[in-house]
Amino acid sequence: MNAMFFGMPQAFHPFMADRLGGPAVGPAPRGAPGARPAYPMVRGLPASAILGTVTTGHPTGRGDRRRARSRTTRLLLALAAVAALLGAAVLVVPLLLPPGPRPLFQLPVPCGETWQLGTYPGHDDYDVDMFPTEGEAWGRPVLASYEGTVTAAGINGTLGGRTPDNPNGPRGRGGGYWVKIDHGGRWETQYLHLLEPPLVRVGQRVAQGEQIGRVGSTGNSGAPHLHYEQRRGWQKVETYFDGRPSGITHDDAEYTVTLTSNNCQPG
Ligand SMILES: [Zn+2]
Repeated sequence: MNAMFFGMPQAFHPFMADRLGGPAVGPAPRGAPGARPAYPMVRGLPASAILGTVTTGHPTGRGDRRRARSRTTRLLLALAAVAALLGAAVLVVPLLLPPGPRPLFQLPVPCGETWQLGTYPGHDDYDVDMFPTEGEAWGRPVLASYEGTVTAAGINGTLGGRTPDNPNGPRGRGGGYWVKIDHGGRWETQYLHLLEPPLVRVGQRVAQGEQIGRVGSTGNSGAPHLHYEQRRGWQKVETYFDGRPSGITHDDAEYTVTLTSNNCQPG
């Protein structure tokens, strides 16, 4: 029988319930011509006169308590609805505001180091893979590109088993150990494939140039490197360093550029 109700216009429901002998939906309209009491007569009064207090034939005192309780329930439900709306507004309104100006991002590696930045077909637009031009990549410090608040610090996907002692171990999935930093104005940066659990935790404020982890090869990584992204309002954008675009845009061709870090401590 339930199946009959699905897909039927709303207006049919009370009619069907009546015809099938089911309970009437709500009290019968007072004084409506031809309305018959949906409940038996109680103490000589037509049921329509006392529907509000008697629902199952129990004494009226309990009904009063029930009515008071249902008023409280309705009040609590209304308050909960208002709280939910306010909560949703707090979350949604900032997302509707236009992004703020681009922060002066720096390379996420120590001041003066030179790294090769590149991408390749199938990577993803604007994604950057970073390799040092000198020395080992394993364990090199990864620094915050700009000050902000850590919003992710943990494992993305699976770690796999690629370590300095076993560089060709099983590949993981996703970003492995990673960090995401919110820089305000809906700007954020992401740092993937770190060697070890990040050196920062979610909610922590970080300064520009503060170390957040070390270069590794966890997750879906072929060799030790830093996968790096800049995002504006959830969308990846071309990475800028020290106020200049990197030129790494689309992933339709292999492309590399060599840059020297200006992520230097002030003073
Ligand atoms: Zn990458």
